[in-house]
Amino acid sequence: MSKENKIPYKIYLEESEMPKQWYNLRADMKNKPAPLLNPGTLQPMTAEELGGVFCEELVQQELDNDNAYIDIPQEIRDFYKMYRPSPLVRAYCLEEKLGTPAKIYYKFEGNNTSGSHKLNSAIAQAYYAKKQGLKGVTTETGAGQWGTALSMACSYLELDCKVYMVKVSYEQKPFRREVMRVYGASVTPSPSDTTQIGRKILAEHPGTTGSLGCAISEAVEVAVSNPGYRYVLGSVLNQVLLHQSVIGLETKAALDKYNITPDIIIGCAGGGSNLGGLIAPFMGEKLRGEKDYRIIAVEPASCPSFTRGKFAYDFADTGMVCPLAKMYTLGADFIPSANHAGGLRYHGMSPVLSQLYADGYMEATTAIQTDVFEAAETFARVEGILPAPESSHAIKVAIDEAMKCKETGEEKTIVFGLTGTGYFDMVAYEKFHDGEMNDYIPTDEELAEYAAKLPKVE
Ligand SMILES: *Cc1c(COP(=O)(O)O)cnc(C)c1O
Repeated sequence: MSKENKIPYKIYLEESEMPKQWYNLRADMKNKPAPLLNPGTLQPMTAEELGGVFCEELVQQELDNDNAYIDIPQEIRDFYKMYRPSPLVRAYCLEEKLGTPAKIYYKFEGNNTSGSHKLNSAIAQAYYAKKQGLKGVTTETGAGQWGTALSMACSYLELDCKVYMVKVSYEQKPFRREVMRVYGASVTPSPSDTTQIGRKILAEHPGTTGSLGCAISEAVEVAVSNPGYRYVLGSVLNQVLLHQSVIGLETKAALDKYNITPDIIIGCAGGGSNLGGLIAPFMGEKLRGEKDYRIIAVEPASCPSFTRGKFAYDFADTGMVCPLAKMYTLGADFIPSANHAGGLRYHGMSPVLSQLYADGYMEATTAIQTDVFEAAETFARVEGILPAPESSHAIKVAIDEAMKCKETGEEKTIVFGLTGTGYFDMVAYEKFHDGEMNDYIPTDEELAEYAAKLPKVE
């Protein structure tokens, strides 16, 4: 049947059709995301203050709420060409398996050694650090994809790279750690005794498996205390969403080639960067009143920032050294249960997506872990790709929506972001197969305890 279809399994773009500019969604938002605040004075962070932590040009991008398009430097476009454009795949086999009239597409970002979309921003951030003449960068990594992506970008540009890796992942994913070392990065499990904040967290929570929030604090401390270093972050920040807009721009260009208009766009949400990137041009149309789409963020039930968090100013990190961001948050102290979707363990959410969600432009839902792995396997068995657990949150909800279409007979077009591959997540798949998967969902009481500790800002 599928051979007869006019739309190919994979829609590729030509190199010449790749985006030459990133799209800055903020330019089309009436309610701009709230500014980052200085944790000491509670005043908006100035470019100068941000420049102590982040690279100069990235600070400009972080603060730019007005320019809709920002040129992608030629050097970055050349690097993108090594692994982009990424394919937009029509999931014919999954549709057939589900027996759904829905048309399902996924944008696959796993075709590079880092195994995820994170390389799109890693190369941009490393490029601006190099351009500024820095020696190196520090960062945190959860599941390891961001650390790997940054290591690749840094080795390409000959920059030093210091990675603080959430301890649970460091232990569960030794191969991920070794890949980073192949690319020349130094990798330290977090919390560690190499920083003041790490020692403090270890003293207060002995035996903790760590969190992104702790690792961020350590990486920032190392950046600000070493001359020639700056800190870079793999998600949450406005600049990261900007770089990831390449995903959405390519997706839209591919769909436009065949006059396809999606009804529903789905992405998993950790800090919000892949989702923010995937939806960017579509959300732009929605904000300008040109088109309407259903946009759904999927988060793990164990770390439900959008669906059960508060929209409030909070610290971006456990150590409270970073600026305050207004976002959906579970509280900077929140440490999720040792959940395998490492990349979705962050307590907060992109301020851009938070504002859009608060204003009703998108929906959010949660998925529990065993359901996510079930969806991952259904997908792997028919589509071939072994998906990352993070990406599988989007697969789960895409399948749910396709099954609703089966009931109603509607031929909706569903697009979801397949952010990466799961080859380094086999311990999690093993737990799933052996029936040892942890489906812990925090109680209302637990969440209220953390919410009560949010900083009093407004
Ligand atoms: C990091 C990661 C995510 C989540 O991060 P976002 O910033 O929310 O996109 C999702 N999928 C994969 C494969 C990842 O590596």
